Amino acid sequence: MTGTFAIVGSGPSGFYAAEALARKAKGCHIDIFDRLPTPYGLVRGGVAPDHQGTKNIVRVFERLMAKGQVRFLGHVTIGRDLSLDELRAHYDGVIVATGAPLDRHLAIPGADLPGVHGSAAFVGWYNGHPDHVDLNPDLSGRNVVIIGNGNVAIDIARVLTKTPAEMARGDLADHAARAIHQAAFETVTIAGRRGPVEASFTDAELAELGELERVTPRVDPTVIPETIGSGWDPATAKVKERNLEILRGFAQRSDTRPVTLNFAFNCAPVRFVGDERVSAVRFARTRVEDGRAVATGTEFEMPADLVVTAIGYRNPGLAGLPMDETRGVVVHDQGRVDAGLYVVGWAKRGPSGVIATNRADSMAVVDRLLAEVTPGAKDGGGGIDTVLAERGVPVVTFDQWQRIDAAERAAAAGDAPRRKLVRLEDMLAAAQED
Ligand code: NAP
Repeated sequence: MTGTFAIVGSGPSGFYAAEALARKAKGCHIDIFDRLPTPYGLVRGGVAPDHQGTKNIVRVFERLMAKGQVRFLGHVTIGRDLSLDELRAHYDGVIVATGAPLDRHLAIPGADLPGVHGSAAFVGWYNGHPDHVDLNPDLSGRNVVIIGNGNVAIDIARVLTKTPAEMARGDLADHAARAIHQAAFETVTIAGRRGPVEASFTDAELAELGELERVTPRVDPTVIPETIGSGWDPATAKVKERNLEILRGFAQRSDTRPVTLNFAFNCAPVRFVGDERVSAVRFARTRVEDGRAVATGTEFEMPADLVVTAIGYRNPGLAGLPMDETRGVVVHDQGRVDAGLYVVGWAKRGPSGVIATNRADSMAVVDRLLAEVTPGAKDGGGGIDTVLAERGVPVVTFDQWQRIDAAERAAAAGDAPRRKLVRLEDMLAAAQED
């Protein structure tokens, strides 16, 4: 097959789409664009620095790149260096895989106070994402409140409380390691607007919080129900039952380590309190009715020197893409957006599931694309290379990314897998080195 395909975004959903195209349309040419000089999206910038096992998925993507059918065009921003319409004019099919890199905003009074951060920015900061490297959160206070009951809230609580030794095999960015390891947090609270059964934690991640050297998890035993109730599918039920078991274990802990990790359920944030900066979060007590959090009429305040909202993400959109602004996703019909234009991953489904969830999703969309587009009608990467050269866009190739990768690995201290370059200029300089 002589088709030419462009993929916008080099995170897991984009790479899985490339893998499916390479396998199903042998002989086709695939170009993956990313606005950063570094590939792998969320695997590099979102997955927690101490979850290196999850990052091993990049080996699969490296093997794909080694076959030579796929090109990486890094440091090219679609919407600035090239338009989506230009990609559509040059490639038989275009797949948007731009994920959900922006925070869902918690629109309550005080949300803009210093000391309140969204998880996209905060996680990006500790993972050394160039967009967020200058966030410089003030970690000098005692009380941290993390809003949301998902795995991102757990990641943040864990990264903020692990000791340097517990983090030694991770790739926490230097600037974040310095700030976090100097902090003297006393309480970290993970606050959920619904109850323990409704929390979207997965059990392995929740259990990990019970194993941290400096942390005693605490939860009021009276809020943990005896059963999860009915109506859950078997796989979900198993996770929820395990979660309740783990929380019961936490409720029995009597040790007093330097950091208390509180689970506060049934509290919905209504206001961030503070003058110059945040000093507390005001919550409404809730009960769960028909699966929804309903305010009981009681409110209370919880001290907070640092707040991170971990309530989900959204796609930023792109000129030429129809958006569902409420959900922050691209409008599509089973992955098809328009003739020759498709969407995969979190840009399509919203921020849910684990990395592997994207494999089946991208494969299904690629099947649809291959059934619908006419391959070989357009000039593909050759034509686009001419446009990029005319505009003087300094494209970072996969070989050049491998130089960045090698420089980061060579600079790693101790057991760390890499020491991340966090500024674009440093990445671009490393890309040029022999
Ligand atoms: P998530 O699992 O959807 O959790 C979002 C949380 O925010 C929910 O508890 C939600 O409560 C809460 N929330 C939403 N709006 C709120 C509001 N206005 N006020 C208070 N709370 C609000 O999302 P996530 O934690 O961002 O994770 C995204 C995806 O990545 C998930 O699929 C997650 O499992 C995955 N992930 C996996 C790992 C891992 O496997 N280690 C690590 C990180 C992330 P309601 O339920 O009441 O809406």
